[in-house]
Amino acid sequence: MKKRILVTGGAGFLGSHLIDRLLEQGHEVVCIDNLQTGSLDNIKQIMNEITFIQHDITEPLPELGQIDEIYNLACPASPVHYQADPVHTFKTSVIGALYLLELARHSGAKIFQASTSEVYGDPLVHPQPEQYWGHVNPIGIRSCYDEGKRGAETLFFDYARMYDIEIKIVRIFNTYGPRMDAKDGRVVSNFIVQSLQNKPLTVYGDGQQTRSFCYVDDLIEGFLRLMATPKQITGPVNLGNPNEFTMLELAEKVVKWTGNKTPLQYEPLPQDDPKQRQPIINEAKHLLNWEPKIMLEEGLQKTIAYFKERV
Ligand code: UDP
Repeated sequence: MKKRILVTGGAGFLGSHLIDRLLEQGHEVVCIDNLQTGSLDNIKQIMNEITFIQHDITEPLPELGQIDEIYNLACPASPVHYQADPVHTFKTSVIGALYLLELARHSGAKIFQASTSEVYGDPLVHPQPEQYWGHVNPIGIRSCYDEGKRGAETLFFDYARMYDIEIKIVRIFNTYGPRMDAKDGRVVSNFIVQSLQNKPLTVYGDGQQTRSFCYVDDLIEGFLRLMATPKQITGPVNLGNPNEFTMLELAEKVVKWTGNKTPLQYEPLPQDDPKQRQPIINEAKHLLNWEPKIMLEEGLQKTIAYFKERV
């Protein structure tokens, strides 16, 4: 059935891929983005197929007409960007969620929240199941994002309990792929761009910290599967690739696939940088019959191909 679907943050890396899939499925899409970190470049090829509204979700929403589903992806997600204006980041997560939940309440729309593995903070439990409450610094430089996203999850559950709205929450682990912002400061985009430009790869700390990287297409498939579940399935559901790599291993793979023998340049580890992060995805396997299909080597090659055209 054709639906009218609102995607906030739709001009971003993940949002634009999600919109591509929703259009493929024949839905009508309304995209809201304030273009703080999103880019019209990501949606230029579909601009005449969607309704695009430049709007900041910390402000009251414009009149949108009937909306059947809401995907809330609006928030700067990389440390460089979310720390640039931390107060605005916090407002985006919390006040933005409030406006969208009110819309869901009044329109009867199902609402999806893009939460994050950052709700686990610098985890003391490894790997992380959804039941883990996290180890989060409430007053550090990452807190605007971590606590903002935690606050949004709280609001989603309180709205579901108070107003019986249908909520779906995913906790997204590190994701990469085409349309990542080259200036985002994320490790995958940094390493690829640096390598393609024959510059040293900037390894923060000793490079032994780990992350698990999920290719964007796998992630979006997980979004769609969760949104299609019955009402009693709310999440939060971890979505990510459980294969864990150190940053040094990642650097090695990037160098292998760009073919550029780039040296490493060690730089200080940022404050509160989690030492390790790896999802347990049993819930997603069980509830959504989902698991990542694209492994790091294949995904890196696709991402390198994308950046090659731009660097
Ligand atoms: N990192 C790095 N070099 C870079 C950018 C990041 O070594 O040029 C490290 C960073 O310190 C962190 C990991 O890579 O330990 C992942 O960082 P990213 O910003 O991509 O994501 P997040 O910290 O949110 O997981």
